[in-house]
Amino acid sequence: MASLATVAPPSTSASLSDRLDVYARVAVHSGLGLRAGQELLITAPLDALPLVRRVTEHAYRAGASLVTTMYADDETTLARYRFAPDGSFDHAATWLHDGIATAYRSGAARLGITGADPALLSGQNPDRVSRANVALSKASRPALELITRHEINWSIIAAATPAWARAVFPGEAEEAAVGKLWDAILAASRLDTPDPVAAWKQHSAALQSRAALLNEKRYSALRYSGPGTELEVGLADGHLWLGGGTTALNGIPCLPNIPTEEVFTTPHRERVEGTVRSTKPLSYQGTLIEEIAVRFAGGRVVEARAKTGQEVLERMLGTDEGAARLGEVALVPHSSPISASGLLFSNTLFDENAACHIAMGQAYSTCLQHGDTLSGEQLEAAGANESLIHVDWMIGSGALDVDGVTAAGKREPLLRAGEWV
Ligand code: ZN
Ligand code: ZN
Repeated sequence: MASLATVAPPSTSASLSDRLDVYARVAVHSGLGLRAGQELLITAPLDALPLVRRVTEHAYRAGASLVTTMYADDETTLARYRFAPDGSFDHAATWLHDGIATAYRSGAARLGITGADPALLSGQNPDRVSRANVALSKASRPALELITRHEINWSIIAAATPAWARAVFPGEAEEAAVGKLWDAILAASRLDTPDPVAAWKQHSAALQSRAALLNEKRYSALRYSGPGTELEVGLADGHLWLGGGTTALNGIPCLPNIPTEEVFTTPHRERVEGTVRSTKPLSYQGTLIEEIAVRFAGGRVVEARAKTGQEVLERMLGTDEGAARLGEVALVPHSSPISASGLLFSNTLFDENAACHIAMGQAYSTCLQHGDTLSGEQLEAAGANESLIHVDWMIGSGALDVDGVTAAGKREPLLRAGEWV
């Protein structure tokens, strides 16, 4: 059998502009499932402009009524930390996020294009970074709730920006690094096939059937064993495994993440015990947090250490009462194409799909049976966590074993040495 290294992906011979066009088409049709007459709201780094233009064209061809893009720029973000008054970091543009929520309520779809410099804020005062983030989380909560409840069709894709590419390929000249990062993004996004829209349909169906199998099992907990990890994660009562595409409450099928390799569900906020170690660095608010080791008792992190970024980690866990508890548990085989690339992307969209992960903070109500109809108290009673944050970090590797624990306490192997049994 030919190894991956000896088979050149067919599309790399195509120009980057042609490949971006395919990516944009996949984002609009497979990612968003954009409907004629829908508005589309895009957020993107300024450096993603060529991709945004391709997406915008495909959105209008699909019948979009209006495409609006909000750009972010690293330099202007840093200008705030350099020159803004200290007292202003508790402030966020609430009016803007209210407007975004209004757009969703009136039927707009949402595309996020990630690509920020993963270390952008690493040299900034952690107190300011944390305050700005809390203010942003509060301001964006109404809009974010519509997203996490899947009220609308939404998707996240990525663009290779110079700052991000330099972080992933240090030592390369900027142009070469950007080219390599685009190759990695497009390969991980399964675009190197003759019909990527059909390939995504098939891959999404495979993830959905994996989730359906796990849902039949009704496990009460997952048991993780690996280097530095001996962890039991109780699953929420009435938890629901999801994976691949989902049908939003507006009736439109969408793929919230491109790429996606995970099946995931809601853990019980009070039933997590033991120790767990990260297997990849976490990029959080512009700081790399490396070699995280935490101990859970009664569902809560009671000890947390990191080789770098300890202070940022502690602030993150102290954001609010739910920030030190789990909101998501996800299984990803070690052989996923992203993991096989061997790259550390320092971007959650890619790194979380390279490895089994857990998330601190907010749970997805969609990962509970009839979750969209449950009240806040009912969600809490089922064990779903609530927080201003949702931060995924990677705990999977080729040395991780995971068992499902049945209601009767019997253990069944799910992953061995990082692969599905
Ligand atoms: Zn996840
Ligand atoms: Zn997550």
